[in-house]
Amino acid sequence: MIFNTHIFKILCICFCLLGCASTQKDTTKTTKSHKTVDYFADNGFGNAVAIVQHPAGVYHNGITYVCYQGEKEDPYVASYNHTTKEWKGPFKAGVSEMGKDPNRKKRIDNHGKPAMLIDDAGYIHIAFGGHGGTPADGENPLGNHHYGKNLHAVSKKPLDISSWQTLDNISLFGTYSQFVKMDNGDMYLFYRHGAHRSDWVYQKSIDNGVTFDAPVSFLKHKRLQNIEAEDSWYPWVSKGNGNDIIVAFDYHICRDNKNAQDARGHIPERHNIYYMVFDTKTGVWKNVKNESLQMPLTKEMADQKTLVREIPDDWTFQGVVDVDPSGNPQVCMMVGPDIGEKRSGSKRIQHFRWNGTSWLKSNNKDLPRGNGDIEVKSSNEVSLYLESRMSDDVGEVSRWDSFNGGASFKKGTVFLRRKDATFVISSLIDNPHPDARIIVGEKASGTDYKKMYLLGDNGPIKRVKNEAKILKKKR
Ligand code: ZN
Repeated sequence: MIFNTHIFKILCICFCLLGCASTQKDTTKTTKSHKTVDYFADNGFGNAVAIVQHPAGVYHNGITYVCYQGEKEDPYVASYNHTTKEWKGPFKAGVSEMGKDPNRKKRIDNHGKPAMLIDDAGYIHIAFGGHGGTPADGENPLGNHHYGKNLHAVSKKPLDISSWQTLDNISLFGTYSQFVKMDNGDMYLFYRHGAHRSDWVYQKSIDNGVTFDAPVSFLKHKRLQNIEAEDSWYPWVSKGNGNDIIVAFDYHICRDNKNAQDARGHIPERHNIYYMVFDTKTGVWKNVKNESLQMPLTKEMADQKTLVREIPDDWTFQGVVDVDPSGNPQVCMMVGPDIGEKRSGSKRIQHFRWNGTSWLKSNNKDLPRGNGDIEVKSSNEVSLYLESRMSDDVGEVSRWDSFNGGASFKKGTVFLRRKDATFVISSLIDNPHPDARIIVGEKASGTDYKKMYLLGDNGPIKRVKNEAKILKKKR
């Protein structure tokens, strides 16, 4: 009898196990039908993300929020919950004035890619869509016109990316939007106030982006005396330590279309590397030696007070900067030969470190060609996040680490590798979760669309294929 009870128990356990196994099998089946892919959306459009419009993502309370230029150059926002592993979106956050005219000579403008900020009340802000405005928008008091309208969209509810409203409270002449939020919640929107021949400005908001102060110039455009050209600038702005905002920038000599100095006319010629700091508490701008600067900064004063390195012959592109805990900056800039209309193709990142008394140039022969962002942990520990095209036609997004202040770099984590792929890369996500540090778009031949990836230390964050296929769904 006891024996039989025992057998009965064993049989029960067996059935139970079989039951479990069959449930397990069913789950596997379900998972199979929900096949995952390593991109989160396929409707990235044109250059989709870049270093300059930033941050393109923010990590906040367990969730990474990302934005990018989607179909018809409209801004799209998606989010990923690191605890539940749930994706939301992408949702369209606004409508760009650009990307709608099929007859326009430059089909995709790409200047109005979105930048993102989450204010202290949890509302998500996106600035997008601008490239200087047009004469129909009226006179631009701080520069010239080109196209589009810089717009400011805000989520209707805190931390909810599903619905948005566009506010009329920033200058529509803006382009290359860059957001910085200070520890006290003050919001700064930096941008160029028009096309090439315009001042760079910021607008400040102390009420979570409900209102912004009028634009304040910090880099001055002006006509040159002896050359048929104007002074123009490309800064990259980021939060430093405490109340500081830090800026790395290069100089664009904006030649007239027909000019005596260069038969090519207007070309994307950029030179030199500069650095300065804005103390937002005192309102004083300073150079690396703590000397105050008269604003808006002119070319003459920039050369005299803020030079990291003069680069008169080679061309420059896209600086980035970070500071160590003592406030000493490290700056990266793409540098390469005069290559006419081609942009970053033959340029290479150069790394410079301020050691308290002078700028040291790294001998970074180990680094691949590629564009990216910098993260400084200490004066010695620095990482670069780069997209690069390897010699065997493999596109790669990886981290390059230095433990000697940039004297040498070694390849660390590889986030993504693809045969025959080229990537466009964002700046580092603000306050990033280790699993979600950067956003990239994968260029594919024969289409303007890009697959969008959210990359971190464990590679791309995967998504159910049906959810990531936005384009297919719409057709
Ligand atoms: Zn120009």
